[in-house]
Parts: sequence; C-alpha cells; structure tokens
Amino acid sequence: MKVAKFGGSSLSCEEQFKKVKQIVKSDPTRQIIVVSALGKRQAQDDKITDLLYILAAHLRHRVSGKRLWEQITQRFWQVKQELGLQLPLERYLTEIEEHMQQGATPEYLVSRGEFLTALLVSNYLGYQFVDAKELFAFHYDGKLDQLKTEQQVQRVLVKNKKIVVPGFYGAYPNGEIHLMSRGGSDVTGAILASVVGATLYENWTDVAGILLADPQLVADPVTVSQVTYQELQELSFMGANVLHEEAISPVEVKNIPIQIKNTNQPQLVGTTISETSSDQRLITGITGKKGYLSLLMSKRKIMPEVGFLNKMMNIFHHYQISIEYILSGYDNVRVIFSQETTPLNIYQVMEELETELALDEITLDRDLSLIAVVGRASKQTVGLSGKVFTILGQHAINVSLISQSNYDLNVVIGVRDADYQQTIKVLYEGLV
Ligand code: ASP
Repeated sequence: MKVAKFGGSSLSCEEQFKKVKQIVKSDPTRQIIVVSALGKRQAQDDKITDLLYILAAHLRHRVSGKRLWEQITQRFWQVKQELGLQLPLERYLTEIEEHMQQGATPEYLVSRGEFLTALLVSNYLGYQFVDAKELFAFHYDGKLDQLKTEQQVQRVLVKNKKIVVPGFYGAYPNGEIHLMSRGGSDVTGAILASVVGATLYENWTDVAGILLADPQLVADPVTVSQVTYQELQELSFMGANVLHEEAISPVEVKNIPIQIKNTNQPQLVGTTISETSSDQRLITGITGKKGYLSLLMSKRKIMPEVGFLNKMMNIFHHYQISIEYILSGYDNVRVIFSQETTPLNIYQVMEELETELALDEITLDRDLSLIAVVGRASKQTVGLSGKVFTILGQHAINVSLISQSNYDLNVVIGVRDADYQQTIKVLYEGLV
C-alpha cells in the first residue's frame, strides 16, 4: 500500500486534478491520498491557505471578509463545475459560513482549504473522504496522540480501502480543529504512511525532485536522485523547501522510503529518500536562510563565570526564542537566532539580558544569513570545510560564523544578507 500526498500546486485547477487522477489510477496500490489546499495557478495567483489566513485576520479585527470569502469559494466552484462533480458544495460552504458567524477559530477556518479540496478530490476519484479530525488526535500542547491516532486510522481502514484525507490538521481532545505548522500536509502523509506501514510514501509536487540549490539563486541546479533521511533532515532544518522538517522521522523509524515526484512530469524518477544512498556526489545540497539576528553581549571574563550561560538561556527560554548558535570568547558571547521565533519587541529582551546578566554592553545585528553545505553522510565528506573555505577565500567573501557538525556532514557559515546569493552561487560552482 502506498500513501500519495499531492501539494497545492498539483491541485490548483481542473487541469491539475486530471493529472492527479491519472497518476492515482495508474497504480492501484496508491490507496491513501493526502491533499493540500488548492495552490497557485500561476506565479501571480494566491494560495487558498494564504487567503484563509488573511480572512481569519479580517474576522479577528472585525473587518468584513465578504469579498475575500467570495474569492476563495469561487476557486472551489470553478473546479467543481469544470470537472462536472456532483459534490453538494453549497451545503459545505453554508456550514462554514455559519461557523464563521458563530466565531469560528482561526485554526478551523484555515483548515477549510484542505477540507474542501479533499472533498473535491474524493468525489472526482471515487475514493472515500475521511475527515482528518476523525483520524489525527492531538493533545492540547499540539503534540500528536500517537496511540489514539493509530487506533482511529486502523478503524477507518477496516471499512475503507481507498481514502482521501485532507492534510494539515487534526483535532484537540475536545474535537476542535488543531492546525499543524505551514506545509503540514507533508506531515499528515508521513504519519499515515508510518501508521499503515506503507511500502512507499510519495510526495507529489511541482519540481523534479530535490535540487542541489535553490533554482532562483543558481541557474538550472542538478536534481539529486537519492538522499538519506539524515541528509534531508539537515537540508530541511537549514531552510531547503523540499519537505516539512517533521515529515521525515515518522517514516524514518519504519524505514519507509519517501519519493519526491513531479505531477507535471510523472515519468521522471524524482528523488528517493531512504536510509542509504549510492549517490557519489560530494554534497547533497546547499541551502540557507536570510534574516537571522545576532546579539553580542560583552562583559569582563564572561565565559569563565559559572552559571552565566544558564542564566542567559533562561531568559531566552522565557521569551520562547530558539537559539541556533552560541559563539563565545573570553569577554563576550554571541547568540544567533532566527527571526521567526523572535518576539516583536526584541529590545525588551535585550534590556532584561543587560540587567539580569550585568553586561557592559549588548548590541543587536539584524543582517545575518546562514548557509549550510550538506555533504554526503559518508566518509567521503571529510575535508568539505577545507573546500568551502578555499572557495570563499578566492571570492573574498567575509564569513562571520563557522560551524561544523559531527563527522563533517554539515558546514554552516554566516555571511551578510547582501552576500547571500553570491555565496550560494560560488559554492555551487565550486563544489558541484
Ligand atoms: N496548505 C497548507 C500550507 O500552505 C498546508 C500544506 O500545504 O501542507 O501551508
């Protein structure tokens, strides 16, 4: 049995629905289909999920979301009509509208993108629709209730052999909708694959597989045909936009391979992710993110002070800031963290650090990009950092941070935002 997840770009309009049907029907073992919400039809278009987030914000601020809702529903009507589906769409939309009037939670509202898309897909394929809230049980802290989820999935599969499930959400113990983080349908598919012990987890998207670098930064990057779970985990963590970071471990523990495939070119092999890889390339990928922040804290003998790091970490913990790196010297400590987990008022955090830690000085730098060169999870990678620094030296790129993971698998460097693109480009040219 295979689990096949189709992303929003694979389900943006009726033409894409037709491709999905052909793919699903060409292999009867594709029995569990997971879908994202309708995606962009062309570059300037909007994703349904993005529109729903904006709609939820309208409702929160008591601004009319009528036009936005029309724009959203129109997309679903169009697919239904063009495919000639019998689905009672009107009834589902009315139900959602009623919920909105009664003060629906943002999580509920945003999840309706996947919900409605899955209804359309199930109707079109003739597969049973199963609401994700009946399958995925979450605790109130957002963690998956593994046991309950397994039981619910098994129960549904006894009665239904071919199902369509909306990705991205599940239910809290009280039945309310719990939304996963962005891109969460990948996780839905991975958990289902793991629970049913699938032979393969297919992830259908609009690229030919995992590319060695971002095609917006490097012209025509190579597609990697085989990647290990560990390599992909490093790549995803460092910002590669391939698969949700949390979609790897559920399938890894059961050793179920993941295959990334292109809905628009299903004949291409794509990328297979499994425990081992026979790819001979030196590296698996170059990826990174802009917009990191760095705080430099100075005080005499800061590092030898017993308990200093502990006190500092408590403050970061209090503000729920996730620290990426700590660099230390005798008289100073530098902490790097991502914009995403930083509170709006970072100055309040700085104030507290300065007072509580009795610092001489604290300075904030917002201009930092982190770039990761992920090598092969093998001995071949030894010496990767040496190569990386030779290339950067040749191009006179100023590096403000260096970090190397165990076994040289991953080399991370920090550069100014302005050097981000150029750095990725020269590393690609020098290493691939
Ligand atoms: N539609 C959601 C998003 O855009 C979830 C997903 O696509 O996986 O993040």
